[in-house]
Amino acid sequence: MSIEISNLSFSYGSLNALQDINLSLQEGRFNALLGPNGAGKSTLFALLTRLYALQQGEITITGHSIARHPAQVMRKLGVVFQQSTLDLDLSVAQNLYYHAALHGMSKRQALPRITEELARFDLSARLHDKVRSLNGGHRRRVEIARALLHKPAILLLDEPSVGLDPATRESLNLHIRELCQEQQLTVLWATHLMEEVQPDDPVTILFRGKVLASNTAGQLCQEHQCADISTLFRSLTGVTE
Ligand code: ADP
Ligand code: MG
Repeated sequence: MSIEISNLSFSYGSLNALQDINLSLQEGRFNALLGPNGAGKSTLFALLTRLYALQQGEITITGHSIARHPAQVMRKLGVVFQQSTLDLDLSVAQNLYYHAALHGMSKRQALPRITEELARFDLSARLHDKVRSLNGGHRRRVEIARALLHKPAILLLDEPSVGLDPATRESLNLHIRELCQEQQLTVLWATHLMEEVQPDDPVTILFRGKVLASNTAGQLCQEHQCADISTLFRSLTGVTE
């Protein structure tokens, strides 16, 4: 039981950003949400994280409705938004302590968690450096470490690799896959980059606010007789990445 989205629609005035979305995330897996710019990915994230109130449809997280049991479900989520939300003039430690405090952790409780998460990303040596001095890939890693401090069951990442070079993108993607395997973390990774998807990944293709297809990437390619996910994406949407 992770995230279940049923009959979800959302509009900004007359613009229908999401239309009748049905989607279940697979537990402990790297679930990809694929869609070009404007597909509705960030709108979906805003609804999952309760930045926007639901207009139509329902979202349940670990079996609880987000509208009826917001406090219970929000604790289960770790989130990395599309735009970085780190304070560049604070140190890595200060950014993380602040977030830990929001989750009710004392400094003493937070330190071992911070150390553990930073070590996983090879960032222990940067604990007291200002975030401004870190490169883009390291900043993203700090954001992910921060999102994991309170040990969420589900990690949401909205286009986490945008703006990073290909090698850094790939290593970030592999890190997240390791977390799925080692910790049974359920991941929702939104992207418009097809190369970030592997054949076994559960994939949802979102286009102009609608789900066009949902299955593992490999199964979808087989069903539609496409050589790879890029070809499938092009044939379903007419969009070249
Ligand atoms: P994605 O993250 O896939 O690029 P978005 O969820 O940001 O897509 O956008 C989906 C659609 O909603 C787009 O047409 C976008 O222009 C529109 N949109 C997004 N945010 C707003 C907003 N705050 N007000 C009005 N329209 C918006
Ligand atoms: Mg977006």
